[in-house]
Order: sequence, then C-alpha cells, then structure tokens
Amino acid sequence: VFVSRPPSSPATASIIHADLDAFFASVEQRDDPSLGGRPVIVGIGVVMCASYEARACGVRGAMGGREARQRCPDAVFVEPRMQAYADASRAVFEVFDDTTPLVEGISIDEAFLDVGGLRRIAGSPIDIAHRLRAAVRLRVGLPISVGVARTKFLAKVASAVSKPDGILVVDPDRESSFLHPLPVERMWGIGAKTAQRLHQRGIRTIGDIAVVPEAGLVAMLGPAAGRHVHSLSHHRDPRPVLPARRRRSIGTQRALGRSPKTPEALDIVLVGLVDRVARRLRQCGRLARTVVLRLRFDDFTRATRSHTLDHATADTALTLSVARGLMAGSLARAHRDGVTLVGITLANLETADREQLMLPFATRRHVDAVVDDVRHRYGSTAINRAVLLGRDAGIEMPLLPDPADPSSPVGGT
Ligand SMILES: [Mg+2]
Repeated sequence: VFVSRPPSSPATASIIHADLDAFFASVEQRDDPSLGGRPVIVGIGVVMCASYEARACGVRGAMGGREARQRCPDAVFVEPRMQAYADASRAVFEVFDDTTPLVEGISIDEAFLDVGGLRRIAGSPIDIAHRLRAAVRLRVGLPISVGVARTKFLAKVASAVSKPDGILVVDPDRESSFLHPLPVERMWGIGAKTAQRLHQRGIRTIGDIAVVPEAGLVAMLGPAAGRHVHSLSHHRDPRPVLPARRRRSIGTQRALGRSPKTPEALDIVLVGLVDRVARRLRQCGRLARTVVLRLRFDDFTRATRSHTLDHATADTALTLSVARGLMAGSLARAHRDGVTLVGITLANLETADREQLMLPFATRRHVDAVVDDVRHRYGSTAINRAVLLGRDAGIEMPLLPDPADPSSPVGGT
C-alpha cells in the first residue's frame, strides 16, 4: 500500500502571526475599566481605531467622527495617547522576544514569529501560540489574535480570521479548505481596486483565483501582481521570518510632466517622496545615513546629489530637511532645464534595533511610528502631511499633536 504524499514533504505549521486586537482602543479599555465592554473610538475628528463594540455598529477606521457618532451614538470618543500605545507595544514585543529569537515586527502591534526550531525546548508551535496569547494577556493586559501556519501568508490570514481574541491553526493538509472559501479581499496585497477587477470577471473567492492559470492572472493584473496572487492561492509563500531584512538602499521616484515647476511644486513632490521612503525604511527595521536626490531634466540628462549624516536615522522630518537642502542646491538648474523626474534614495543602511524604531523616546520618531501604523491599518491616505492635504485624494485629518512641543507641526515644515 502506497500512501500518496506531495513530492516535497510539507513543513509543519510553525510560523506564528500575532496581531493585537483593536490595539489603541484595547489600551484605552485596559486603562479605564469604565470603558470595558463599551464602544470606544480613539480619535476625535477621524476614527483612528474602533473597539469591536463600536465596529459592531459599523464604525470603521478612517471614518469621519460625525459619521461614527451617527452610527454609534453610545460610543465613547477618546483622544489618542501615543505614549501609552508605544509603551504597550514595547511590552508586547518583549513577550515576542521571550518566545523566540526569530521575530519580524511588521507594525507597532503585529509580528511574525518563527517557532519551528523550538519544539524540544518549548513544545509544539500550537502550545507556544497558546502560551504567547496568555502571556500577552497576563503581562500586558491586552487581547491578541494568533494565526499558526506553514507560511507567513497563511498565518496572517489565519490571525485575521480568528479575530477577535482568537487562535487559528492551519494544518498543512487543510490549507486549501481553509483558504479557498475566503473572499479575494483576504489576499495579501489585493486592494479595493484589484478586488473590483477580479469581481468583474466573476472571481470572488481565493479558490476562484486558484483555478485561473497564472497567465490569465498576469493578463488581468500585470506580471508582478498576477504571479504573486497565483502563488499565494496555491499556498506558495517561501518568504522566511526575517528579524532584519538586508537591503542596501531604499528608493522611490516620481515622474513629472514637462510643464515648468515652481519651487513650491517641487517641494510638495519631495515631501511625498520622503514620507513614503522613510516609512518603508521604518517598516523594514532600518536606519539610513545617506540621502540621495536624483533629478532628470527635460533633455534626459540626470543629476545626483547626496548627503551623508553623522548618525543613521529613520526620522521623516530629518530626512526631509536633508532632501530639501539637496534640492535647494539644484533649483537653479531645475528652473533652467525643467525637471521631469525626482527620486529619493536612502542608502548606507543600518539595522535598527526595535528600540530605535518602535519605542521612540524622541517624540517625533514616536509620532512617525503611530502615523505608520494608522496607514498600515487604513491605507496610505488615512493621514496626510499638511502640505499634501487637498493634493492627494486623502482624508483630511488633523495632524497628530506633538505633546513635547504643541506649537510645532508634525510634518512637512
Ligand atoms: Mg492589530
């Protein structure tokens, strides 16, 4: 008798995705027992985080305060307390670090943990996941949901499906029966637009994606997204849990039309580029020492200018001030020759320890972390820097206050 098995023996489910539930709202409920069990909304003008009680009334992140109040008249609105969230994040990451050396933080309240090598000293991944949830509850007082699976993607989907305050284990032989009935929106990297494009072709579930040949998905979504979606729908996700990703530089650029640009217009482009690239730097746990400005002109010639700092940074405002200095030195040529492309690259990368990124003692860095987090949850338009408001299709939101210096704006200036 032959038992048929896939050619490469499947690894066991040993990647954990751990994600705090309604993080900011849960901290508020923890610290003020009168809020327990009640709908809590963090953020006054715009919803930054809604407790599950408020979500039950249809309140969502990035919703306007007035609409949230209409949907949930009993809700308690509270001002965000950044320091409390940063402290809670530090405490939760201490629990993660006590669990395994292989922790990859992906936002202020979320991480992947590889616990595959710990069976002999700490037990099975499932035992470890249960203990992790109990430890976060006991030591930090917060609910956390956990997915356990063979790949990062499946673990992340599993934690999302298990919410709130849940645990979900995807056994290697049940991956298809778990994943395929889920709507395409659960797929990592599928946004509203892509989902709509798939819906138009009658593709509603991940199982629907899995039966489309890769070439068909590439035709629908483009080469990168098509291949990505095809692999994930077949549970192929070889990305390991990486405590710090190794990259030599991180860059972004923006092509501009050929019309003349005022210095103010170029500055707005620069602010957007720096904002994006600094956020990506922080997301992958790095600091940069060198800021590179790249310009392309109407006649297709190029110019590159760079500046290296004494100390590496992931701070948006500091990076922006360096980039502005570089741009200032190019304005005359930019005016004369016309700029058609602006790029910002951060190089000379160093690995930040989590303290430097997530436990920002400097207030501005700390605000960066919270802004990153809001964008991570609600999309990149949930918070815009003041200079960008009204330019991108974003939701207008008052900039987060800087408790140390209320008179100084957070971004852009
Ligand atoms: Mg979360």
